[in-house]
Amino acid sequence: MPDELLERLRRFHDDAFPPQRSLFRHLVDDGQHPLTLFIGCSDSRLVPYLLTGAGPGELFLVRNVGAFVPPYDQSQGFHGTAAAIEFAVLNLQVRRIIVCGHSHCGAIRALYGEVPPAAQNLARWLDLGREAALPVAEPGPEVMRRTEQRAIVLQLERLMDYPMVREQVESRALTLHGWHYVIEDGEVHVFDVAVGAFVPASRADNAGTGPYRLGDDDSAFDPSGVPLAAA
Ligand SMILES: [Zn+2]
Repeated sequence: MPDELLERLRRFHDDAFPPQRSLFRHLVDDGQHPLTLFIGCSDSRLVPYLLTGAGPGELFLVRNVGAFVPPYDQSQGFHGTAAAIEFAVLNLQVRRIIVCGHSHCGAIRALYGEVPPAAQNLARWLDLGREAALPVAEPGPEVMRRTEQRAIVLQLERLMDYPMVREQVESRALTLHGWHYVIEDGEVHVFDVAVGAFVPASRADNAGTGPYRLGDDDSAFDPSGVPLAAA
């Protein structure tokens, strides 16, 4: 039986890697200096490199079920996403953080249903999105979309509870971006904090949220001031 994964690894080494050898060499010698922390849902249909056109060295990527952000003050212990946020902001000094959810998200749908009893970690993890759920028993497409978007805003709010994030956002060294990727349309809707709504990228003025134009905005971005209901 052919080992498909092994074939793919060989194809990468033989075909895809050589044209980029010098780029990777540079990224090894000079180290990585990504400007963006991308927190995305683990869903296989969300492909951050396709969406952003980013290449090697450009995205510091952390993905989890639902693109959730755990609370800063309760995350002591083994929390990969919290550790990634701290590392990206304090060590890599990224300039923006994107939280990217998407349409047809299984994590968001699971907020309205049951998870298998053995999935105790998953059940607990979904608590990070529960506040976004709307009081309906059977969510239709519109409720799903709203819940997905509300969950993204909820994570932005929680990001602001990380002291190093809040500090840098308030000093305008860091911007936060809430993205809702609509898989079937191939379009990201970006959260515009001034409007309090998600706007398709084709019609948006910026890549989302806060003081996207650094330095010439009146107030620092504070998503905690945005009513969740607006999303
Ligand atoms: Zn998802």
